[in-house]
Amino acid sequence: MSKNSRVVRAPRGSTLNARSWQTEGPLRMLMNNLDPEVAERPEDLVVYGGRGRAARNWESFDRIVATLKAMDNDETLLVQSGKPVGVIRTHADAPRVLIANSNLVGRWATQEVFDELERRGLMMYGQMTAGSWTYIGSQGIIGGTFETFVEAGRQHYGGDLSGRWLLTAGLGGMGGAQPLAGVMAGCSVLAVDMRAERIERRMEGGYLDRRAASLDEALALLAEAKRTGKAVSIGLLGNAAEVYEEILARGTLPDLVTDQTAAHDPLYGYIPAGWTIAEWERRRDSEPEAVIAAAKQTMARQVRAMLEFRARGIPVFDYGNNIRQMARDVGVEEAFAFPGFISAYVRPQFCRGRTQFRWIALSGDPQDILVSSRKLKGIVEDPSFARWIDMAETRIRFQGLPSRSYWMGLRDRVAAGLALNQMVASGEVGAPVIVTRDHISSGSVASPNRESEGMLDGSDAVADWPMLNALVSCASGATWVSLHNGGGVGIGYSQHAGFAVVADGSEDAARRLSRVLANDSSVAMFRHADAGYDEALATVEREGLRTFGAPP
Ligand code: NAD
Repeated sequence: MSKNSRVVRAPRGSTLNARSWQTEGPLRMLMNNLDPEVAERPEDLVVYGGRGRAARNWESFDRIVATLKAMDNDETLLVQSGKPVGVIRTHADAPRVLIANSNLVGRWATQEVFDELERRGLMMYGQMTAGSWTYIGSQGIIGGTFETFVEAGRQHYGGDLSGRWLLTAGLGGMGGAQPLAGVMAGCSVLAVDMRAERIERRMEGGYLDRRAASLDEALALLAEAKRTGKAVSIGLLGNAAEVYEEILARGTLPDLVTDQTAAHDPLYGYIPAGWTIAEWERRRDSEPEAVIAAAKQTMARQVRAMLEFRARGIPVFDYGNNIRQMARDVGVEEAFAFPGFISAYVRPQFCRGRTQFRWIALSGDPQDILVSSRKLKGIVEDPSFARWIDMAETRIRFQGLPSRSYWMGLRDRVAAGLALNQMVASGEVGAPVIVTRDHISSGSVASPNRESEGMLDGSDAVADWPMLNALVSCASGATWVSLHNGGGVGIGYSQHAGFAVVADGSEDAARRLSRVLANDSSVAMFRHADAGYDEALATVEREGLRTFGAPP
């Protein structure tokens, strides 16, 4: 992979670089993915999540950009694992871009096969929103992280996290949202990371309050936070496995434990104990097997420590990075004794029909997000939305193109999408808006160690749902649609789909938005009703959806 020192940033304002907003939208979003404020390693095209990339290589990136600029509104660009492969004639309501990333035939869908194909330049890891050009930095995940911590507090501590602290690791693109989300939910957070520059970056972005020079200092700051009742987030440089073991040995125990290192990728995502970063980077190319083996041994130590926290009565959960699987692969048989975050805290939200809704101002003007979120407060019926927007306005800084995200039910999503489109039409915002979601949703992900872990009917590994979801988004008129393997948890462990719609203020866009948003939420409801969840069946009934999903 060729490094490149150029700086990519999405164009701002209302002047088109492409022939219409239908292609300007994906163009700006692809570039925004690589904005240095947004991406973790833009020089390598790495957006977040280990090696989640926006394009296969710089030649592919340039060709995608040039193609989008020249395309008409009855054409569709096809992207295969980050490489543009052709343009086909379609029609105005068809997607302008169709993306397939990291997909391998079942029996071949392993990290080893993928790594070999990637080395030969034939594939790219798209993670979830990296290769689908909808990543917006930690601001995209923070709402979900906040909801997860609030629900954990509700289940274990009567809804009050004050005076408590969460132990976690990983301050990358996704994991970096944890400290701020924790403080917003009312608890202190100790976050361990091996890279000093990640700790710096989260402090600069307003996601992390303090840096501790040692575990002693970190524990003293946590004790002070407990005394004063003022939650604080602290970054600590170190290896997660070693720090977790040390905390256990000292007996100053946290109140919640998780981890968000990029454990899903034992070659590029997780640094073995006792290794320096330089040694790890050097040996990745020359001795990949040794790196993978050492990383998995350290993950086993970390998971054993997490199991010990659990044995001492502390709620522990996997935060969607497949660390339990990696530990089990090397002999930690009981690794799955603690749950994943979806089955523990998020599935009830899925059954109530809530799925993420995010919107991005293509103008680049923060005012567009402030004006539109205030307007949406009067439109979205879920009262928690207004509270979230107030909190987000004071606490969350924009990265790259300004945006906001929150989880909403079907009706709220459609109403919000139409209201945004109307604001574009009336000129209340300065340019069109992108409406999209992340891939952590209930109907668009099959991931047996994460989104579909422990489904009521045992359908955890059924990957038909994300396929149907992607087809539905195409049929409904999304502006771009993507279908990926391996996001979150690594190759072979998940299948998932994403979409984005350009709200350009036209009546066509209004029709597309209402179809895409309603149908995306509907697939999610069908999936959970079909699995037999009572709350999902009730939601289907309430929303008047046509499903055959009730079990006999
Ligand atoms: P990232 O690659 O940007 O960051 C990973 C961080 O972990 C880096 O800062 C790295 O220095 C640190 N790290 C690695 N090994 C370590 C060790 N042994 N000790 C301490 N720190 C270590 O990844 P990201 O975007 O933050 O994603 C993190 C994980 O979460 C990934 O596995 C990703 O697939 C998963 N994920 C989670 C969600 C979610 O909703 N929670 C969504 C998508 C993906």
